[in-house]
Order: sequence, then structure tokens, then C-alpha cells
Amino acid sequence: MERCIRCDGELEKGFVIDKGDYDLASQATWASGDPNTSFWRTSVVKSGSKKMPVVTYRCKNCGRLESYAHDVS
Ligand SMILES: [Zn+2]
Repeated sequence: MERCIRCDGELEKGFVIDKGDYDLASQATWASGDPNTSFWRTSVVKSGSKKMPVVTYRCKNCGRLESYAHDVS
């Protein structure tokens, strides 16, 4: 079991909800590189960016959030 680096409290596994297209709730995703800020973009994620789901742990004691992004295998 992972512990909080701030207060040594117990960490609870979860994920951060991200609102994407059509206000659909989904899991937050980490993407490598810079966001695409072009007006003509079809996505904020540039093609070729590495993408990984973000897993976030929450400390039950102090509420601190700690996020990890691992390769999906
Ligand atoms: Zn804590």
C-alpha cells in the first residue's frame, strides 16, 4: 500500500474525470510534448504524441492528490 509523502496517510486509488466532446465524462489522459493550440486543430493532442491514462491516488488523511501515467500494455 502506497503512503502519502506529506503526512504518511493511506492512499486511495482513483482517477480524475475529464470532460471531453459532448460533455462526456472520461478518464484524464497524459500526452507527451506540447498541446496543439492551432485554430484549425481537430484535437488538442498533436499527432505522434504519446498518450497514457492518468491514475490519481488521493490521501484519505490530507486530501493530497498524486498522479501517475503508465504505459498501457
Ligand atoms: Zn496526506
